[in-house]
Amino acid sequence: MPEQAEGVVADGRSAGEAREEVLRVEGLSVAFGRASERVALHDVSLSLRAGEVVALVGESGCGKSLTALSVMGLLPPEAHVLAGSITVCGKEIIGTPERLLRRYRGSAMGMIFQDAMVALNPLQAVGRQIDEALRIHTNLGRGQRRDKVIALLDAVGVPDPTNRLRQLPHQFSGGLRQRIMIAMALIGEPRLIIADEPTTALDVTIQAQILEVLKDVTQARGTAVLFITHDMGVVAEVADRVVVMYGGHVIESADVVETFSTPAHPYTDALLHSVPRTDSVRGVDLPAIPGSVPAPGAAPAGCPFHPRCSDATQECLTMPPLEQVLPDHDVACWHPHTSGRSR
Ligand code: SF4
Repeated sequence: MPEQAEGVVADGRSAGEAREEVLRVEGLSVAFGRASERVALHDVSLSLRAGEVVALVGESGCGKSLTALSVMGLLPPEAHVLAGSITVCGKEIIGTPERLLRRYRGSAMGMIFQDAMVALNPLQAVGRQIDEALRIHTNLGRGQRRDKVIALLDAVGVPDPTNRLRQLPHQFSGGLRQRIMIAMALIGEPRLIIADEPTTALDVTIQAQILEVLKDVTQARGTAVLFITHDMGVVAEVADRVVVMYGGHVIESADVVETFSTPAHPYTDALLHSVPRTDSVRGVDLPAIPGSVPAPGAAPAGCPFHPRCSDATQECLTMPPLEQVLPDHDVACWHPHTSGRSR
């Protein structure tokens, strides 16, 4: 990647830039093993525009986090890219030296992890940790950095930020620690934030508050958010578009309203039916998807969902292509639910 990528993050973004493409993943395949014997991501493609929240959805092991790690250039050593391209603000990530990737992480892209206690240093005051990140990613002087730390904590709703700078992570509640993680992800004013199950460990009320904060601060900045979750309730709260993954494949991609009203892939349909609704009958079990997700790199040949799919036919032993079935609605299924079958 050329050195000029350093300037990917620019201030003073104009309204005309508001919908520029921030992330494009094109034909990404990732494998584990010396001989690439376990292919865990198959031909994954997706894109995000500025200000857009795309939910990357699926059960654990479907390939969501591996896709996110690929975007961040943080694949584990035993994994490698077989094919494809990842561009952030037009700059290629695959093959970029670690020295440059480190610069992009935190400036062009930020990440919010599920467990703030793991991501934060438990022995260092929160203000110090944010200050350290600011020192690395900006040219601000000490006083300016202190003002910025307070402003960031204030922006994400940490009460009394001036006096809480000196406190350690364990002195904050789980919800406040996650707000601090959002503040840290915003330090370099990234164009892209990857949020990996950021509210899973929180109770429902705090989760709603954190989602609200995340939406507010990213919309105000025109930041694109790739939101990874297995929780369709959270998807309904935050997403503009939904990309569903299964067995390392993208199997459906659509606008959030259409995903919920007319899920075309049997897996998406099943995921939605397993979410509690306000009209769910008390005492009646929600339908569960039979069977289990294949281990990464161990999906069966053909459509990876076929062992669990009640609509499977002989044809499903061949992988269906991802095709447009409705405007802006792509599905990889030989028998999509497109004729009025919905929730
Ligand atoms: Fe089910 Fe076949 Fe569609 Fe796969 S391709 S989801 S097995 S109907």
